[in-house]
Amino acid sequence: MVINWNNINREAISIFQEYLAIDTSNPPGNEKLATDFFINLLLKEKIEFQTFTTAPNRNILYAKITGNDSNKGLMLCSHSDVVPVEKEKWTKNPFGGEMIKDKIYGRGAIDMKSCTIMQFIAFILIKRHKVRLNRDLIFCIVPDEEIGSKYGMSWLVDNHPELLDIEYSLNEGGYGFSDIRINNQPLFGIGYREKKICWIKITAFGIPGHGSQPHGTNATAKITNALNKIIAWHQENYNENFQSKDDDLNNIMNEVIDPELVAMNQSTLNITRLNAGNKHNVIPAKAEAILDCRLPNYIDSNEFIHTIKNLVNDDAILFENLSTNEDNLILECEWDTELIHVIKEVLNNDYPNNITIPLTSAYGTDNRFLRNIGINAYGFIPSIFSLEERSGFHNHDEYITKENFINGCKIMYKITEKLCSKKN
Ligand SMILES: [Zn+2]
Repeated sequence: MVINWNNINREAISIFQEYLAIDTSNPPGNEKLATDFFINLLLKEKIEFQTFTTAPNRNILYAKITGNDSNKGLMLCSHSDVVPVEKEKWTKNPFGGEMIKDKIYGRGAIDMKSCTIMQFIAFILIKRHKVRLNRDLIFCIVPDEEIGSKYGMSWLVDNHPELLDIEYSLNEGGYGFSDIRINNQPLFGIGYREKKICWIKITAFGIPGHGSQPHGTNATAKITNALNKIIAWHQENYNENFQSKDDDLNNIMNEVIDPELVAMNQSTLNITRLNAGNKHNVIPAKAEAILDCRLPNYIDSNEFIHTIKNLVNDDAILFENLSTNEDNLILECEWDTELIHVIKEVLNNDYPNNITIPLTSAYGTDNRFLRNIGINAYGFIPSIFSLEERSGFHNHDEYITKENFINGCKIMYKITEKLCSKKN
């Protein structure tokens, strides 16, 4: 059946604008408002769904169109919460869903309510056009992603693993980059891996005393000394070029100096907190610093800390790993799969000779919980974001262009339709 995209685009934009007007700032979340919104729409489409309340006013929506069982399912998945806004710094209404000069503004325009609607449109079109599915197709929205997913994806994985007996999931964690062009086409990245978080607390101990009298065992001097060594070591070892195990890809990406892409396949380190003393004239007995390190999954956190400790070489300094659970998580899924081939095929149709690369996201997403139970969970918002648009993640005046949004709906549908109607 031929799809009238003009009508669908109008419908999609209107649903999107309404969805942006729902305030699901987390905390407190109130994501039930989002779930209720979709329930109304699903009822109109006569699509079955379930909800799970995980906390007051917070729930998960899980809707399914049943296919034949030749393959395990595909889940289109997103989070319904958004990060809070600093209203006075916005020039537009963060919960207005306004379209101004072909830009659609609102908290969640990028992260990630636009993608939810792209997935929803793909989902209802499959139903409306009675596409014969070779697998189940699931549309799922979860709360609480922005504060660690305890009431969202983590809850679903722990409490209803039977609903997650699927092969693939699509969520956030990758997209197209309009400002990075290769072969005269935008670069696309699909998230298939995450780095692990390694937060290290460093504490230096010294002898307290009067600020007027130096005595050589000042905790602040010790920590400064240690941090200088750590910074110098990191700068020496940090590669400013794109890094991956694939030499051909490294050659293609040679010119790319995007900080996010450069950082993704190597260890990074930043001093994010410093704390010592509470009076101008007292030498403090201890000084503390926090290092925010992000490590490729093949690097063991404790070995990394051991390296830093040896480098500092001072027994009066204590090193603590604040994120000990990370080493047990499986943060990577398979890359060479049918879904990746389908995405590449669809993108190649519209952007011939484009390069689509495996991305390691520097930040955490809900994909980590799904990868950990063996699902090929990919991060891909099918839009081509400008530098300004992608700076909208957690920022003021977040927007997506109308073109990016409606194009994303179409690409999401094509990917879903192609994967789920393919004959084996
Ligand atoms: Zn997000």
